[in-house]
Amino acid sequence: MDNSVESLDALIIGAGVTGLYQLHALRKLGLNAKIYEAGSGVGGTWYWNRYPGARFDSESYTYGYEFSEELLQEWDWKEHFSGQPETERYLNYVADKFELRPHIQFHSKITAASYNAATNRWEVETDDGRAANAQFLIAAVGILSAHHMPDIAGIESFQGTSFHTSRWPKEPVDFSTKRVGIIGSGATAVQLIPEMAKMAGHLSVFQRSPNWCLPLRNGPITDEEQARIKGSYADIFKRCRETYAGFIHDADPRSAFDVNDTERRAFYEEIWAQPGFAKWHANFSDIMVDERANETYCEFIREKIRARVDDPEIANKLIPTDHAFGAKRVPLETNYYETYNRADVSLVDVREHPIKQITPQGIMTAAGHHELDVIIYATGFDAITGELTRMNVRGESGRTLEQAWSDGPTTYLTVMTPGFPNLFIANGAVFCNVPRCAEVVVEWIRDCLDHMQRNELHRIETTAEAAQRWTEDSDALTRDFLFDKADVKSWFMGTNIPGKARTFSLYAGGAPMFRDKCEHVATSNYEGFVLK
Ligand code: NAP
Repeated sequence: MDNSVESLDALIIGAGVTGLYQLHALRKLGLNAKIYEAGSGVGGTWYWNRYPGARFDSESYTYGYEFSEELLQEWDWKEHFSGQPETERYLNYVADKFELRPHIQFHSKITAASYNAATNRWEVETDDGRAANAQFLIAAVGILSAHHMPDIAGIESFQGTSFHTSRWPKEPVDFSTKRVGIIGSGATAVQLIPEMAKMAGHLSVFQRSPNWCLPLRNGPITDEEQARIKGSYADIFKRCRETYAGFIHDADPRSAFDVNDTERRAFYEEIWAQPGFAKWHANFSDIMVDERANETYCEFIREKIRARVDDPEIANKLIPTDHAFGAKRVPLETNYYETYNRADVSLVDVREHPIKQITPQGIMTAAGHHELDVIIYATGFDAITGELTRMNVRGESGRTLEQAWSDGPTTYLTVMTPGFPNLFIANGAVFCNVPRCAEVVVEWIRDCLDHMQRNELHRIETTAEAAQRWTEDSDALTRDFLFDKADVKSWFMGTNIPGKARTFSLYAGGAPMFRDKCEHVATSNYEGFVLK
């Protein structure tokens, strides 16, 4: 390996959806930019999360990059909600088409990054022994990358195979004769469970909290649909720009109580029949803020679950009792509930009988021992901040991000935090269809660096006041929502991670308002930032 220190204009961390576009955008600007990526390939989330069943919850044609009309016309999405293998292929196609691969350092996980005030450069170390420095450090690490393993006694003692869903083996595993246990019932588990049920000798699902799951209604894209999609990308993206969460679905302006019971029921049936998140984002406008309105929808979903699960006792266990619809990220599912009608699938209620320990042979709950050959941890992520705080990033004063954010992250526009000059956080931490807001952030950073180059500016930092105001305003925006009222464990609030500060760290003002704020700051001479 080359022991020299690589010197760059911009070092981007992560070759996922955001990092790839950031690299392309900065190279077009003429900057010497490079990605450092922990994995052996591109894709980020779509590289790591290769569990069976992993697929978009966004319509495929709203998820792909908007920036290249040529790419939009060349790429044929095969399904309305693309599966992980196809999405990984897409991101590889993008990397090749835009000749990004020579500018990506694979197998290089950043283990430390510190800002050197004397040189105004970020100095970076990697787990494969590399060193690099760059004027700008851009963390495109995604919001769901730092996986979370639960703190269960005996976890190391298990003698079978075990892994977290985001560390799924690349080589095929034969589960056909195996007794498989899955811990968790979030969006990942809900995609995985129906697929694993088909593959495993026997599947046991260790569920602590059921979720409100909605039918995905995926299907292949026909040739006519393909032609229609390609002919209407401008409209599709215009629509995504106008909606609150960057999807093609937007809330019905009516309250759930503007209609009578029969009309409400008919409306719920109508959105229920639609694919994707229509059943969430195209719902009545007060579903996410009014508990009574929310309850009318919960009752509708309860009926749907009961109609699909043969055993009424199991159906009851699959119905949430601890949170309102939408108070946690809603999973989309395909045959999830029917899976529990299979004789070779068991639901283990670990709220009623908690997991006591992992043993060499399986899982011990308060009710007894479950012998297993495989344990799969679908136990989620230390979301939004986890990857950043685990990376040992030190700002100007020598404080780490972990220390600076011990009470929750303080950012300005989600892209910068005080005390960390020239560090851009390109997470797109917005309540949004990820690529739609990630593109906003990538282009904002590109334009900012362009502005700095043109004006011979070398250092940018947000002021503490601007960051405090933005963070307080963001907090205030979440207060009306049921996810902020609910006392539930969820990555939305950071409460799924023991000891983590309780904050809603996604900007909840809506994608259009986020874009407006970003534009406003750029056009008002980078108000809230100090540029030197
Ligand atoms: P998650 O929603 O945080 O779910 C983690 C699950 O593990 C929960 O059911 C949790 O139970 C359980 N768990 C954690 N520790 C446990 C313990 N000690 N004992 C028993 N159960 C335990 O994580 P996820 O399912 O990986 O999903 C995370 C996010 O990834 C999603 O919300 C979504 O945003 C994203 N995602 C997106 C897609 C997509 O777009 N297609 C697909 C999958 C995931 P409790 O709820 O009781 O804590």
